[in-house]
Amino acid sequence: MSNEKWIKTTCAYCGVGCGIDAIPTSDGKLEIRGDKTHPSNFGRLCTKGAALGETVGTEGRLLYPMIRHDKKQTRKRTHWTDVTQHIADKFQKNIDENGPDSVAFYVSGQLLTEDYYVANKLMKGFIGSANIDSNSRLCMASSVVGHKRAFGSDTVPICYEDIEHAEAVIITGSNLAWCHPVLFQRLRAAKQSNPDLIVIVIDPRRTETCDIADHHLAIKSGSDVALFNGLLTHISENTQLNHEYIEQHTTGFDAALTLAKKEHSIVDITGLKEHELTEFYDIFTKNKKILTIYSQGVNQSSQGSDKVNSIINCHLAMGKIGYQGCGPFSITGQPNAMGGREVGGLANTLAAHMEFNNPKHHQLISDFWKTDTLATKEGLKAIDLFDAMAEGKIKAVWIMATNPVVSLPNSKKIMTALEKCPLVVVSDCMDNTDTMAFADVVLPAQGWSEKSGTVTNSERRISRQRRILPSPGEAKPDWWIISQVAQNMGFETAFTYRHEGEIFKEYAQMTTLGQDKQPRDLHLLGLTTLDDKGYSELTPQQWPVLEQQPNIQEKADIQHIRLFSDAQFFTPDKRARFVPISYSSPQNATSMSYPLLLNTGRIRDHWHTMSRTGLSETLASHTAEPFVQIHPKTAIEYQLENNHIAEIYNVNSAIQARVCVTEEISENSLFIPIHWNSATAQNSKPCLLINDVVDPDSGQPEFKHTPVNIKQWHYNSEALFITPHKVEMDNIEYWVCEKTNGGYLYRIASKQNTMALIIQLSSLLDNINKESKLTSELTHEYRHAIISNTKLHSAFVVSEKTTNAQKTWLFNLYQHNEKDNIKTMFSS
Ligand code: SF4
Repeated sequence: MSNEKWIKTTCAYCGVGCGIDAIPTSDGKLEIRGDKTHPSNFGRLCTKGAALGETVGTEGRLLYPMIRHDKKQTRKRTHWTDVTQHIADKFQKNIDENGPDSVAFYVSGQLLTEDYYVANKLMKGFIGSANIDSNSRLCMASSVVGHKRAFGSDTVPICYEDIEHAEAVIITGSNLAWCHPVLFQRLRAAKQSNPDLIVIVIDPRRTETCDIADHHLAIKSGSDVALFNGLLTHISENTQLNHEYIEQHTTGFDAALTLAKKEHSIVDITGLKEHELTEFYDIFTKNKKILTIYSQGVNQSSQGSDKVNSIINCHLAMGKIGYQGCGPFSITGQPNAMGGREVGGLANTLAAHMEFNNPKHHQLISDFWKTDTLATKEGLKAIDLFDAMAEGKIKAVWIMATNPVVSLPNSKKIMTALEKCPLVVVSDCMDNTDTMAFADVVLPAQGWSEKSGTVTNSERRISRQRRILPSPGEAKPDWWIISQVAQNMGFETAFTYRHEGEIFKEYAQMTTLGQDKQPRDLHLLGLTTLDDKGYSELTPQQWPVLEQQPNIQEKADIQHIRLFSDAQFFTPDKRARFVPISYSSPQNATSMSYPLLLNTGRIRDHWHTMSRTGLSETLASHTAEPFVQIHPKTAIEYQLENNHIAEIYNVNSAIQARVCVTEEISENSLFIPIHWNSATAQNSKPCLLINDVVDPDSGQPEFKHTPVNIKQWHYNSEALFITPHKVEMDNIEYWVCEKTNGGYLYRIASKQNTMALIIQLSSLLDNINKESKLTSELTHEYRHAIISNTKLHSAFVVSEKTTNAQKTWLFNLYQHNEKDNIKTMFSS
């Protein structure tokens, strides 16, 4: 294919923000390859990015706006004009009767910057409430707090190329190999070409990231502050402080050191050996170029903000910031978490890195948006927002591009809140998410490859996501939907955008406000004059963009912008702040009833709640079932063996997962992936167990530290069931659904005996228009197949314990699906 036909866009998943070349194929899918000119990945992709082409199409898509006027009714199809007017009327009625804080938006790091900007403008600028918060609250809100406290701005100062320049890379609270694979590939390559590069992984689990680590510090969950306070003390006691930097460019050092020195039992708190601590501390102090990469293991904690500042304190104490190969590096989880932070997608910021507590910022934005109703105070953060909804204070909520019933903690409470909320609007590209079950209004949004706009990655690089495929049904861009509602609420002149390029230009102009008097880090001056063609052809731009960066042809063209290289920070006195921190144990504590600690996170080949990655057979093949990792000694204590099904429970709920006994996890700890939801498993959502304890400053929930108990979940029969379409399995006690072979494979376990399970599964096929039915009863298994229109429709195998051989037989049956083949295979 000629090069001209490839369209440059950006990956839909993680915060690495890899550039992708995509081209439509004749079957309506996409061919995908890494964009060799993109400075964030230089052509590399991970399994998820490479499989994006398998995830486009109409399967599972929400196609039309639907509405119900009464919660007892089912939703009915409606028109865009009616539904946007309905939302506008309902929101306005609530605002008139109960004030602007009675309504809320809950948005997402999946939104493009332009969508985010318009949503924030409507809620904060014109509705007059700051009740707009994002699922990014769950991802990096603690880093935002840490950055602002230390730097006076939410700044990630580094560039990805610092990985190649570092002398030591510390990875703490991040399974980089699985969660940000292309950066991990980059680190692996850097280590291969420079064997002196030291890699240290700090993580309670031994993950794949440890494969390239020189040191793995299997720290006790939640003890990071003690570890880094110990480092600060070590730096001081070993006369490694950069006194000149501290005196000229920072404040608060003495107080921070005094508190750090009070940390006396670091070995006990962290569970690390003395020599492990010394080795780590020596590496930090003896190497000039230290890059500290951190992610959800740091952020998702009741002490997340303090953890971030304890890391930054150490970098400031040695002046290890602002030059090549060096600095604290918060890596974001979502494709546009950074873009959301930029435009004000969090309830506690205004927009364009301007703040509520600054009256000048308030005035600048009011004037810019020509509004006199700009919100004057912070809104409700995610957990507080749903609490307020449960208490009846939020009477209308609009959820965009996210699935809070699966992703927020204590999801029973989230469901109660949504049940209680008089108006729940959900816009999403996918149908039948767990959250959509609660929606009074559903709005079909465009998905990746259909929508157009920009995203910002973890090195502050803005890249275009481009439209490649047509949208199915009546799906629309999120910014368009929000603008229609805004216009119907009476804000016609402020929301008359013709296309996303106009929104981006307005946003870029906003970043320039007040820069002459009080500079901010986020400044897109060089993008304020983009015309339609310029926006259409925009190449990746790392901010601040004072002049548009050139089209990248060669690596030499790439600009790498490090912030704080002049040691000038965005505080009033331009000095960075040390933040005095002391360790406190996580708020969630184990007990006799719940003696184990549950950690949660991502696996390599799935993303969030699987609504997209679950469509790819390639990705599904990596991990078939939700699992719970458990240490061999703990497994013995709880009488669990590999491949048992376990019930994991606490006061909130109980869920099931397949047991994986491994020494990668420490004793008395468990790990469960976050991805499986009601569409892909009967009852395996860890969010049901997680307490809604949050960091007091960031509001970020503690996803990594939940007290639970575990026991074997006994069953009497198993089945493998393959079908072309998803099937309602409500009455089956344990099932997991996997996309496979052009259909769906269900792995089933039941407390009933095999005969009862056979009857139950057979009844699921009662309504199929059958040409014939084949059954065979062998010594230890029962086989069942339905032929429809001369082809195999569905089939299942039931036995007390299913085997891989049975799965292979079932797959073969499904692949050789002509009637005669099936009959032969049944009789063989
Ligand atoms: Fe996409 Fe992240 Fe993989 Fe890059 S590393 S291809 S952005 S999922």
